[in-house]
Amino acid sequence: MTKPIYFYNSQKGEKELFKPKDPLEVKIYSCGPTVYNFNHIGNFRSYIFVDILRRSLKLLGYQLNQTMNITDIDDKIINQSIQNGVTIEEFTQPWIKAFQEDLDTLSIEKVEHYPRATDSIQEMIHIIENLKKNEFIYEKEGSIYYSIGKFKEYGKLSKLDTSGMISGARYDTDEYTKDDLRDFVLWKAPKLKGEKSWSSIFGEGRPGWHLECSAMIRKIYNSGIDIHTGGIDLLFPHHENEIAQSKGAYPNEEFVNTWLHCEHLLVDGQKMSKSAGNFYTLRDLLTKGIDPKSIRYLLLSFHYRTKLNFSIARLEEASKSIQRIQNTIDRIIETKEIEDFSGIPVGYSLSKYEDFLNSLADDLNTPKALGTIFEFIKEINVKLDNNQLSEEDGIDTLKYFNSINSLFSIFRVEKLNLINEAEIESLIEKRIEAKKNKDFKTSDEIRDTLLEIGIILEDTKSGVKWKRK
Ligand SMILES: [Zn+2]
Repeated sequence: MTKPIYFYNSQKGEKELFKPKDPLEVKIYSCGPTVYNFNHIGNFRSYIFVDILRRSLKLLGYQLNQTMNITDIDDKIINQSIQNGVTIEEFTQPWIKAFQEDLDTLSIEKVEHYPRATDSIQEMIHIIENLKKNEFIYEKEGSIYYSIGKFKEYGKLSKLDTSGMISGARYDTDEYTKDDLRDFVLWKAPKLKGEKSWSSIFGEGRPGWHLECSAMIRKIYNSGIDIHTGGIDLLFPHHENEIAQSKGAYPNEEFVNTWLHCEHLLVDGQKMSKSAGNFYTLRDLLTKGIDPKSIRYLLLSFHYRTKLNFSIARLEEASKSIQRIQNTIDRIIETKEIEDFSGIPVGYSLSKYEDFLNSLADDLNTPKALGTIFEFIKEINVKLDNNQLSEEDGIDTLKYFNSINSLFSIFRVEKLNLINEAEIESLIEKRIEAKKNKDFKTSDEIRDTLLEIGIILEDTKSGVKWKRK
């Protein structure tokens, strides 16, 4: 059974009931990373949004077939791989790995497909061939361009009147000559010596960035999809160009039903930039000792269509909020004998669980969902203070927390493994020994094992100290 869900569809400019073609295979495509450096915290806001979309749909009874592309060819990647004297693949591989590690760190669920641009070149060439047949393209100095003037629906998604923008500032940064400033490149002739290129009927070259998303959607789903997501900065021109390509190449097919766009992330009220000194990768925050759970919580606690003002102080608030919920869970768990809290709540917590799901079904309203949780823990805490939470109700609340945690993936809904102090000390001794022997794998494993059961180690001048979380 699926629950009805409403989304704000950027194409329509309003909330509407979501109607997937097949609720047992909702097709979702999300624009992913360009792999030449570590992703920054603004990128992760967008990926957390994709994760919340995914987990919410699953909680509401849908099954998914989801894709995020990996852009492993562009000017920066070409320049840097030439500079480093390595192939494109050698250059991008470590960055792809870093991206996947970062997803794990933030508990972002893996989607079904992560196609790479360089694996989809033939599909891209095929789209250009169709665009040629339908007379949307022209050639200039060996490169192929899309002629926007020929696509009548251009601007429908972004609702921009692009005709007035012809004489304006550049808004597609490709440094190529084109007939009309709005036009964008589909196939780029090589410019640098040793630049990676592919052969095609349009000559040697490589695809323009916009083309890969249209091609991957075609490759993986064959025709139209239910949902396309991306950061708000991709709405124009990137998504507008995707539509022009796909509808131009396959005019009789549907492309995207629902467009969802995630708002910007600001840091301390400003646009994040290296020059302003407010630029953070995820790894920058981890080296400051920040718990990834706080980062995940902060990023998901704002509604995806509002600007998120990120700050270190807000991470501390996030950590406190997590602790408030965790404390209530721990208080209930301590009094319960059973340890399996799987399944959805059916009794005392059912209506609160419904409130939670209804908030998500309302265009993924996570702040509202959090509000319902804090209201509920207030009520539970009063009951616990007065010894009024029955065994049955207690277990039902743990089912509630376990279920909402399949969205959050932040809380611990199980008994702490309470090992005694002697056992902790002995593990610490083993870790010191492993470190002496430069066996960092073992020493890290011991630290992680202790962390999992809520023991934090601190290396101080006077030796290793430990405390409970
Ligand atoms: Zn894209």
